[in-house]
Amino acid sequence: METTDFASAPTSTFDGLAGKTVLVTGGSSGIGQSIAVRFGHEGTNVAINYLNAREDAVETEDKIRTAYERCTAAVRDCGVKVCLHQADVSKEDDVQRMFREATEALGGIDFLINNAGIQLSGASHEIETGAFDSVIAVNLRGAYLCAREAIRHWLEESKTGTIVNISSVHQIIPKPKFVGYSVSKGGMQNLTRTLALEYAGRAIRVNAVGPGATITPINKSWVDDPEKKDLVESHIPMGRAGQSEEMAAVAAFLCSDEAAYITGQTLYVDGGLTLYPDFRTAWSSE
Ligand code: NAP
Repeated sequence: METTDFASAPTSTFDGLAGKTVLVTGGSSGIGQSIAVRFGHEGTNVAINYLNAREDAVETEDKIRTAYERCTAAVRDCGVKVCLHQADVSKEDDVQRMFREATEALGGIDFLINNAGIQLSGASHEIETGAFDSVIAVNLRGAYLCAREAIRHWLEESKTGTIVNISSVHQIIPKPKFVGYSVSKGGMQNLTRTLALEYAGRAIRVNAVGPGATITPINKSWVDDPEKKDLVESHIPMGRAGQSEEMAAVAAFLCSDEAAYITGQTLYVDGGLTLYPDFRTAWSSE
């Protein structure tokens, strides 16, 4: 199986990230942690949001410091600040407090990464209402509440800003037994597109990353089980699951000056999972 080695820091940097400030929700684990570390490597000041796992958020901070040590001298000259913010993104008061604290600590926010997410499984006809609501509350309402605070901040300060929503291939691929998750990510597509259209004229860009199956704790049911992992990877045209660093690179790109003319888009980073893999052979026409 093809593997990718991310042990060394990326060698290239994107324009327009050094000296800016990013808030990453769910920055204590998986994709969010890699995004926070990648921005640190780019010389961006980072506000790390977490819900429960403060020790994991501290680990993110440590990894940012290490990545920063390895970055270019030009980026190092900017210095990088990091702060930690406990908040439940589904709660309006928490989100407003987090933005107040982060903007005070870092002098403003330039980029928001809406990454915090959860999933709950069960047959759709058996799922409790509260379980369905909780997934929507974190994945969709939380992303909206954070986007609203960020946009208010940019409009008040007459600043430009960029939002990247960490969506999923399940934005377009149905996921049986994960109805709340599928609905939340489907909703995220129009959250991205609606906000992008509404604020394009105010120099606020809104895009999304759509990860495929990625090696993170959310997938603990299969990542450490070789048989289950093989099964998952057998469905992926490129034959392997993604790494969180591969998602982080695209999130950083979408915030950078190189992506200055991109808004309202979802970039799928999925090894081909959204390419209808069952049609690898022309079975329907033969
Ligand atoms: P993960 O390792 O389980 O991390 C989830 C993060 O979200 C944690 O930092 C967690 O904080 C935080 N979080 C959960 N509920 C929260 C809340 N109410 N308020 C604030 N933070 C909260 O998951 P992941 O795989 O990195 O997933 C990150 C994002 O990528 C999610 O939106 C997920 O849907 C998306 N995604 C993942 C995959 C994949 O295969 N891994 C594929 C497609 C999309 P604590 O640790 O403090 O609880």
